[in-house]
Amino acid sequence: MELHGKNIVGHERSAEGTVTFRALAPGRDQPLDPQFHEATDAEVHAAFERAAEAFATCRRRRVDFAPFLECIAGEIEALGDALITRAAEETGLPEARLLGERGRTVGQLRMFAKVVRKGSWVDARIDHAIPDRKPIPKPDVRRMLIGIGPVAIFGASNFPLAFSVAGGDTASAIAAGNPVVVKAHPAHPGTSELVGRAIRRAAMAAEMPSGMFSLLHGTSERVGLAMVRHPLARAVGFTGSLRGGRALFDAANARPDPIPVYAEMGSINPVFLLPGALAGRADAIAEGLAQSVSLGVGQFCTNPGVVVGVAGDDLDRLTSTLRERIEETAPGTMLHRGILEAYERDLQELDGSSVVTLEARSRETPRRERTEAACCLLSTEAGDFLADRRLSREIFGPSTILVRARSREQLEAIAAGLEGHLTATIHGTEEDLEEHASLVSILESKVGRIIFNGFPTGVEVCPSMHHGGPYPATTNSLFTSVGTAAILRFARPVCYQGFPDAALPAELQDENPRRIWRLVDGELTRE
Ligand code: NAP
Repeated sequence: MELHGKNIVGHERSAEGTVTFRALAPGRDQPLDPQFHEATDAEVHAAFERAAEAFATCRRRRVDFAPFLECIAGEIEALGDALITRAAEETGLPEARLLGERGRTVGQLRMFAKVVRKGSWVDARIDHAIPDRKPIPKPDVRRMLIGIGPVAIFGASNFPLAFSVAGGDTASAIAAGNPVVVKAHPAHPGTSELVGRAIRRAAMAAEMPSGMFSLLHGTSERVGLAMVRHPLARAVGFTGSLRGGRALFDAANARPDPIPVYAEMGSINPVFLLPGALAGRADAIAEGLAQSVSLGVGQFCTNPGVVVGVAGDDLDRLTSTLRERIEETAPGTMLHRGILEAYERDLQELDGSSVVTLEARSRETPRRERTEAACCLLSTEAGDFLADRRLSREIFGPSTILVRARSREQLEAIAAGLEGHLTATIHGTEEDLEEHASLVSILESKVGRIIFNGFPTGVEVCPSMHHGGPYPATTNSLFTSVGTAAILRFARPVCYQGFPDAALPAELQDENPRRIWRLVDGELTRE
């Protein structure tokens, strides 16, 4: 399928602007065809106007979005090898990883279709009237969640499929009943176009109104800011840098009518090594850590960026094995030159510090022409780590810093000094856990997910997953961007008081025609 390089506004192609750009193949450091047209402000406006119309039409017609989500999954699969080939060229990610990511993407779409079919996600609550209640009558009150309206979504560079055009944000926003306007990540515009065209085909097959989906390109901040500032945008989904996420959050809050921004902006994912685990499994933990640090060339928001343990022979043993594994790790191609340059700059800054030691680095020299990064292990003392906040900043890439604590108190001081992160990991025995109960309670206030005897990379997509955390990990710690609960970001409660039964949405009618779970007069029931 030949790429056209145009924006997709509703069901139509659009290329009004004169600014164009091309994708780069990071593995060859060469531009790829075709030219992509950066969206103009008029195209941003057209996309949101159509989205608002589509939202109103779908609300009026009580549209079922499950078939649309399933159609998108089918259309993505039907793209076949062409999608994987283009994504591999644009991102430098290996085919096996992209095949896995495609599976996750279509799996997420089908998972949300099921959530829509089951229907209970709307959290319906019914309190029947008690007209003769004294001293005042109780009215009939019913509440449920409905879609929030057009959502602006930013494709992430590090998940060109699963967190991009048809990724978790898009799937959950559509499942909640919202049209989406997606800003394609400029590092993989061709992959974005292929997926965007698949969604457009699915929208037509599922008879969605034009405007349920638009795809806009751009390499300048203007496009993203215009989307967030557009008066018809109702919410924003974003995965990327703290700088980008914060800029969009500030722009959304500076609107005359601020809108919610769900930005996931990264994390250092600290790993705490407790004495029992170090004594029994130092080598195995080191092996697992090396794999987790280098997975996907470290370009995961769950990459373990800091490892903390109490100094001693066991920690030395772990360090020595980790050193060997890091040296054996071959350099890998990063997603784009900007990410590689940021990685190298951040590493150099740490390496230049007098309190940081470079313990190990990939033995093989990275090839610049292939946008490759070396894997690195750094180390420092807990006192220095606590004194210098720069040492706890995220370095996006395949590196980690080992922190040697002198006591259990220092281990806890490090946990207490953390900012908000997505995850924290504890390696220990059950006795360790009991003894370090205070560490667990400190971490509960710092992160969204605590992992015991595992590694933070690899986020299971399931109803109980929480992929989020206190700021600066995200701009809203109440919500997750992975798993079925992600739908709640793009829904808003509406309460109907005193309505006649026939005028209520089906989910709130007495007969419960959708057979969903509801809280009726305080009891959870499907009756
Ligand atoms: P990014 O710079 O945050 O960009 C992500 C998207 O947001 C792009 O579409 C970008 O569009 C837009 N954007 C960024 N800043 C903006 C602003 N001030 N105003 C309007 N739009 C803005 O992320 P990236 O290019 O993927 O990688 C850069 C760094 O982000 C990495 O080195 C890493 O530190 C971090 N990152 C974090 C995660 C994570 O999982 N949290 C994932 C990927 C990257 P334009 O390019 O058109 O401006």
